[in-house]
Amino acid sequence: MPSRRDFLRAAAALAATQLLPLVPAQAQVPPKHPGQAPGFFRLQVGDVEVTALYDGAGLIRPEILHGAPPDRLAALMEDAGLDPKVGEPTAINAFLLNTGRNLILVDAGGGTALGPRAGLLPANLRASGYEPGQVDTVLLTHLHPDHVLGLTGPDGMPLFPNAVARPATAEADYWLNDERLASAPEQRKRSLLALRALAEAYSGLGKWKPFGPGEIPAEGLTAEPLPGHTPGHCGFRARSQGQGLLLFGDVIHSTAVQFALPEATIDYDTDQAKAKAARLALLARLARESTLVAGAHLPFPGLGRVRARGAGYAWLPTPYSAQRA
Ligand SMILES: [Zn+2]
Repeated sequence: MPSRRDFLRAAAALAATQLLPLVPAQAQVPPKHPGQAPGFFRLQVGDVEVTALYDGAGLIRPEILHGAPPDRLAALMEDAGLDPKVGEPTAINAFLLNTGRNLILVDAGGGTALGPRAGLLPANLRASGYEPGQVDTVLLTHLHPDHVLGLTGPDGMPLFPNAVARPATAEADYWLNDERLASAPEQRKRSLLALRALAEAYSGLGKWKPFGPGEIPAEGLTAEPLPGHTPGHCGFRARSQGQGLLLFGDVIHSTAVQFALPEATIDYDTDQAKAKAARLALLARLARESTLVAGAHLPFPGLGRVRARGAGYAWLPTPYSAQRA
């Protein structure tokens, strides 16, 4: 009796002689769908609903990382499946916190000012079920363009007109002073002027309100200074029902390199020694306490935990899970 394999072999041979495909083409194949899933991801931290929002992506080349020989940096990128000649794609994430009393956005993305690599935040915020006008507070981990320029639209008007925009006072004082502007090189001058324009746009509405040391930046959240990347760089900690989340801004830029080699710094750090010290101290604590973390440049959605591994750390991303009400 012919086996199933004999039958398949005979069918294949027949198809080959008749030049017929084994699986006939459908009369009409549906068109392809080039779009991607909306860039939001949601989880619950106690009573706080946390929505990660994708704003765009940049690229980190190993040449802008420091603190180890170039071949070591390249090897870490290769270990992560990356081509060091191309670099590491790095997400720009922001996070929306619905505490039940406030709708708080942590960082605002790069807006349209950074070209095609950023500016998706408003569309992803809407896809997640909210409107920009519903946000009442925007907390800023620091005032680099990829975190702050999304506060205004292409017309220079506030995109979150009902929100108070809040960087740390140390951060606002550093970037928004006249001497810094006067002494800045041309390229830097342009970004300082853009920052000044958006601070003025929110000030005009009475909504530019830097927070001082020890001040509560929003109800239910505390600020945690992490100076080094910038002088006023800080994280924000949310706690609810015994659960916690630390939104740590730019403590990590390169997931491939800086967990395994936390002493590695990046060109974007204002003070590389301080940034390194802040990262080393924080990663040790996060691993010890198994804190849930939200990172601005970790692979989207940028949520997960840190674990000690070897002389460094490993990143354990939160897996996807469907929300069930
Ligand atoms: Zn950044």
